[in-house]
Amino acid sequence: MLSMCTPEELNGDVLHIVFTGRLFGTFEDRRYHARVVLTGEPALVSTSGLVEAPAKPREYYFIKGGLIQSGKDLSVLDEMYKGRFVEYDDPKTTPIICSYALQAVLYHVSGKAFCDNENCCLYNSHWQEDVLRVQYEGKPCDDCLELLKL
Ligand SMILES: [Zn+2]
Repeated sequence: MLSMCTPEELNGDVLHIVFTGRLFGTFEDRRYHARVVLTGEPALVSTSGLVEAPAKPREYYFIKGGLIQSGKDLSVLDEMYKGRFVEYDDPKTTPIICSYALQAVLYHVSGKAFCDNENCCLYNSHWQEDVLRVQYEGKPCDDCLELLKL
C-alpha cells in the first residue's frame, strides 16, 4: 500500500523481499520456467522454487521415466538420490534461501542479476548439485563483495 511507504522506500533505498512457499516462474522460449528468485521491487524468493526449479541429476529423470513406465513406486528414487537435491522441509533451505535473498540485494544495489563465477553463492545455478555446492556452502566472490559494499 503506497500510503504506508516511507520516503526512503519511495526513493528506492529500501528493498522489499517476499519469501513464499508458492511456486512461480517466467515464460521464455514458449514455455514456463520455475524460478527460485525474481529480482526487482519487491523481490520474490520461493522455497518451492528452490525444490522444483533447479534440475536434479540427469540420471534421476532417466530412472524416473523407467519407474513410471513399469508402474513402480517413485519414492525409492528419492531415497537413492537423497542428499543430492533440496527437498521440501529440508533443513538446508534457510541458509540456501539467504543466498538467493542476497542475489536480490545484489541486483538492487548494482543491477547485476547473477554472478558468472560458478563458485560464488550469487551464481545462477541450474542444477540442484550446484545449489548445494554454491548457494548452500559457498560465499560471495570478491567481485560481488565489492559490489555489495555501499
Ligand atoms: Zn560473485
